[in-house]
Amino acid sequence: MNKRTFIRLMAAAATNPLVSPLLSWAANNKLTNWAGNFEYSTDHLFPAHSLEQITSYAKKRKQFKVLGTRHCFNNIADSTHGFLSLKSMDEVVALDAEAQTVTLGAGMTYGQLCPYLHSKGFALHNLASLPHISVAGACSTATHGSGEKNGNLATAVSALEMVTADGEMLRVSRQHDGEAFQGAVVGLGAIGVITKITLDIQSAYMMRQYVYENLPLSELKDHFEAIEASGYSVSLFTDWQKDRIREVWIKSRDEAGQAFQATPEFFGAKLATRNLHPISELSAENCTEQMGAPGPWYERLPHFRMGFTPSAGKELQSEYFVPRQHALEAILAIERLRDQVSPYLLISEIRTVAADKLWMSPCYEQPSVTIHFTWKQDWPAVSKLLPVIEKELAVFEARPHWGKLFAMSPVELKSRYKRLPDFIQLSRKYDPRGKLRNAFLERNIFSS
Ligand SMILES: Cc1cc2nc3c(=O)[nH]c(=O)nc-3n(C[C@H](O)[C@H](O)[C@H](O)COP(=O)(O)OP(=O)(O)OC[C@H]3O[C@@H](n4cnc5c(N)ncnc54)[C@H](O)[C@@H]3O)c2cc1C
Repeated sequence: MNKRTFIRLMAAAATNPLVSPLLSWAANNKLTNWAGNFEYSTDHLFPAHSLEQITSYAKKRKQFKVLGTRHCFNNIADSTHGFLSLKSMDEVVALDAEAQTVTLGAGMTYGQLCPYLHSKGFALHNLASLPHISVAGACSTATHGSGEKNGNLATAVSALEMVTADGEMLRVSRQHDGEAFQGAVVGLGAIGVITKITLDIQSAYMMRQYVYENLPLSELKDHFEAIEASGYSVSLFTDWQKDRIREVWIKSRDEAGQAFQATPEFFGAKLATRNLHPISELSAENCTEQMGAPGPWYERLPHFRMGFTPSAGKELQSEYFVPRQHALEAILAIERLRDQVSPYLLISEIRTVAADKLWMSPCYEQPSVTIHFTWKQDWPAVSKLLPVIEKELAVFEARPHWGKLFAMSPVELKSRYKRLPDFIQLSRKYDPRGKLRNAFLERNIFSS
């Protein structure tokens, strides 16, 4: 099923729940993820419009999963039984200016939330490369942007309202639930159905984005720390060729003492004189404004604009989190694989993420550098490369992104999460019969 059909069917179901309380997709209209590389195991999708519908659905089903905006590349969201969609529950529920929080329905995307927040004078601390994703789905997999002082997007969560797998109400907050809260936020879809999510907000801010081209690898080796510290959020895009970083994206907050002073040269790289796409062959029309043009935070933090296709579209993605202290060693280890990687690569991106306390976050108690790969959609080739990359990064105990493609064995993966036993206990408490489990969770979390 293509994206347009999905949207049309969802819209029809949203306006006419009587006609389609349980949406079963027509033959040949297969339900797939955003990139189209993964076909879900069932196309039964129930679009919920109210809390009552969610609790009644959860009580009746033997097994199910919640589907967000379908942007994961692997089977983390998959179900063989049925999906619950909260897409139509996409409104802001409360904005508390004094507490500096916003509470929203779990169907909302960042693309919907951010302009609203800005219009009220508020902002989020960071965003991913694209605003198209649901807040609940993104936080459930520890989605992140960049910036060495910025935690992943889930670190902004201060409370969750959930419906458990058996249809009971559950509220957890940073203020009242301590450990259980830290365990539930990056919940991998295993704790409950998030119905409302509360996020920390701050005063709205303006940003400028600068792109530099062709940063010599030698400069990166000598000045990695200074380069990463140069902006609020820094992304390095590389194809691992020609001993250089192709593009350096520096996102700077327009505030006294924080603003990046753009000079024509930056550690040997040249300031771009036109907007660029991270995949330099593609049109920059889909990208957020660059060349130092001031704009609101939500139009500079993501690389891609709402309403336009993010990234390449037909692609695969993988990403690994490496402890920050091994950043350069890890980058150079991948650089040595350049001739194996490049034929299948569209682009790589290197970012930084601050440490956090969320049990299943790949940045749990670990400031990290992330090494990301946007691949051509050639799974036979990519599936052979991932073990090669993972072998190189094993010495750093790299953790893969939960929503992207990886090859690591469950034993290895689980050994990298010291709070995993606590997480298993927490999910068993709220989902004792494993109704929210699927093949991904059984393999990577619950297998012994
Ligand atoms: C083009 C592109 C660019 C990307 N850029 C980035 C990036 O910059 N940084 C980054 O870290 N990642 C990035 N990603 C990955 C993406 O952010 C994650 O895969 C994210 O989880 C997608 O959210 P979703 O709503 O589409 O999740 P889905 O794939 O729909 O679901 C993901 C998980 O969340 C669970 N879930 C969803 N909604 C709920 C709910 N209401 N209650 C309980 N569980 C729920 C699902 O069950 C599933 O387990 C990118 C992906 C794409 C396609």
